[in-house]
Amino acid sequence: MLPAGVKGQSPLRVQGGALCYGEKMLKVKLLEYTKNPERVVAMAARLCYSPIGAEELSEKLPNETVEKMVKKMLATGHGSTIEHASFTFGVEGVSRALTHQLVRHRIASYDQQSQRYVAEHNFEYITPHTIEKNEAAKEKFDGIMEEIQKKYNELVELGVPKEDARYVLPNAAETKILITMNARSLMHFFNLRCCNRAQWEIRALANKMLEEVKKVAPVLFSKAGASCDAFGYCPEGEFSCGKVKNKF
Ligand SMILES: Cc1cc2nc3c(=O)[nH]c(=O)nc-3n(C[C@H](O)[C@H](O)[C@H](O)COP(=O)(O)OP(=O)(O)OC[C@H]3O[C@@H](n4cnc5c(N)ncnc54)[C@H](O)[C@@H]3O)c2cc1C
Repeated sequence: MLPAGVKGQSPLRVQGGALCYGEKMLKVKLLEYTKNPERVVAMAARLCYSPIGAEELSEKLPNETVEKMVKKMLATGHGSTIEHASFTFGVEGVSRALTHQLVRHRIASYDQQSQRYVAEHNFEYITPHTIEKNEAAKEKFDGIMEEIQKKYNELVELGVPKEDARYVLPNAAETKILITMNARSLMHFFNLRCCNRAQWEIRALANKMLEEVKKVAPVLFSKAGASCDAFGYCPEGEFSCGKVKNKF
């Protein structure tokens, strides 16, 4: 399914070195996560009010109590308890334009494929749908990418190190990144980036990440999503898409 709000955009094909927009290209895999994330959150919540220690508490908590406690933490906004659950994603098939936005989210850990050490002699690139569907624009775009590739290769052949030759590479260049965020930071990320106001590529990524964490922690992420879905109102003021009532 396409991410909500991305009207008229469809999964597209791979063409030459181009990675076209669509779920086919965007690869998001939840690689690792805190074992029993919801139990850990419930344990943290219970510990605050219990005379016994965390280990004993974890063993004693029945599943229904875990669910109740997680729901309570979400409702009360006792955010530190949900920081104990972490999630690590492997992401591929995204542009450097996306990762530049992504790494602005500081409460996270990242490792990204290096253009200093990985040669870009055959770099792949992401083609936005607005370009893909416009024949003339697509021809121009592909031509520019080809030219950049040629110039990059020529610079390297002239003895320019990869770390300097990469200065000619485009925002469209495909990249791979490893992301780790805790549940609290993830929820904030979803509020901002699942929103229709977010740029389409990072929104597609956020929606896919949300889909992945919901599979392993459905209660914890039951209310996660764009601000309007999470809080029932839109904080975007004049930029609101109009899906729900504005906060202001
Ligand atoms: C639709 C949209 C448009 C955007 N447009 C632009 C733009 O034009 N230009 C631009 O530069 N950026 C832009 N951004 C990026 C935005 O300003 C944030 O940098 C990005 O969304 C990360 O959010 P954050 O700082 O809340 O997240 P994180 O860095 O993950 O921080 C999470 C929370 O921790 C707290 N926190 C973190 N660091 C500090 C700190 N140093 N001091 C105090 N509290 C802290 C804050 O409460 C913060 O909300 C845009 C983002 C969106 C969603």
